[in-house]
Amino acid sequence: MKVGILGGGQLARMIALAGYPLNLEFIILDPSADAGATGLGEHLHGQYDDPELLAELAEKADVVTYEFENVPADVAKFLADHTRVYPAPNALAVAQDRLDEKNFFQNLGIPTAKYAPIDNLDDLQKAMDSIGYPAILKSRRMGYDGKGQVVIKAVEQLAAAWESMQDAASIVEGFVPFQREVSIIAARRVNGEVAFYPLSENVHEKGILRVSECRTNDPAQQQAEDYLVKLLDELDYVGVVALELFDVDGELLVNEFAPRVHNSGHWTIEGAETSQFENHLRAIADLPLGSTKARGHTGMVNFIGGMPAAETVLAIQNAHYHLYDKSPRKGRKVAHATIRSDSAEDYVESLGNLLELAKSTDDS
Ligand code: AMP
Repeated sequence: MKVGILGGGQLARMIALAGYPLNLEFIILDPSADAGATGLGEHLHGQYDDPELLAELAEKADVVTYEFENVPADVAKFLADHTRVYPAPNALAVAQDRLDEKNFFQNLGIPTAKYAPIDNLDDLQKAMDSIGYPAILKSRRMGYDGKGQVVIKAVEQLAAAWESMQDAASIVEGFVPFQREVSIIAARRVNGEVAFYPLSENVHEKGILRVSECRTNDPAQQQAEDYLVKLLDELDYVGVVALELFDVDGELLVNEFAPRVHNSGHWTIEGAETSQFENHLRAIADLPLGSTKARGHTGMVNFIGGMPAAETVLAIQNAHYHLYDKSPRKGRKVAHATIRSDSAEDYVESLGNLLELAKSTDDS
């Protein structure tokens, strides 16, 4: 079976690596000549909306998936008219627009922060009466890793905050006073079979994910699964999905979802019986899903803007290093490492060492 992937970065790279043992072949569309995944399959080199390349992709791939959610709607639709596309374009459409996404959750009865649509300064001034301070103004589209966002702490900052959005359609959200951030990842197969991973507890720095730790038997697991199953059913979803949540005194509020494999699930490569990448492929190829059970104590640290030599990372006990073949640039995720151990004590010590190393080599 040939799997087409839109995007050839680290997520596509890890999907392809997981597909080799299953004899899956890959065809990857990416505008960059040296994207990290392109050595792992046929590379269609060009823009995502290039009609000839899209026709070739649709012709050659038995199923198409993607590693980022900002795939233009007409591209997803063209592909879906010619081959199977998972997750389906309707999931992409909801995830691409923060307002549609929040409305979608509200309609499903899934709680979120208070929010309001903003198209001008007047809207913002009015909305703040009910949202209250502090709040976050976010562009509706094309935001990731905290980009296109500004925190508003007081009324004097409203005009500057709106100006920084450069007239982009936006939403304003109440700032959630969370104790922690968690995410839940699940895979849903074509026939509706679903498998949930244990929760990931996530720490972000400057809007970028820094650490994700697997939390087995977490008290919030059931609530997170209940929310996610509503989303999966509503969208008749196929593939891996990640739902990001804020934990406020044991109650979960949804932040957003990603219709794809997710950075907070990278620990599953060594830390789960079946990785999110393999389960994504099993789901879209309509194969039985693998166990999502955690293997001992496990967590992941991102390297941002710079990465240490392999020797240094691998000198840490129980560390596994994943390089993305990306040139370092400020704020760019270039590698991650996972710790997996049967001993809680060893795990905590190794993760601490890894984090210290990451902070000393970063340029975030
Ligand atoms: P996002 O791009 O929406 O995933 O936001 C990136 C990060 O900013 C989140 O993981 C949180 O750490 C923080 N953040 C986003 N929205 C809120 C909010 N409404 N309240 C508090 N923190 C937020």
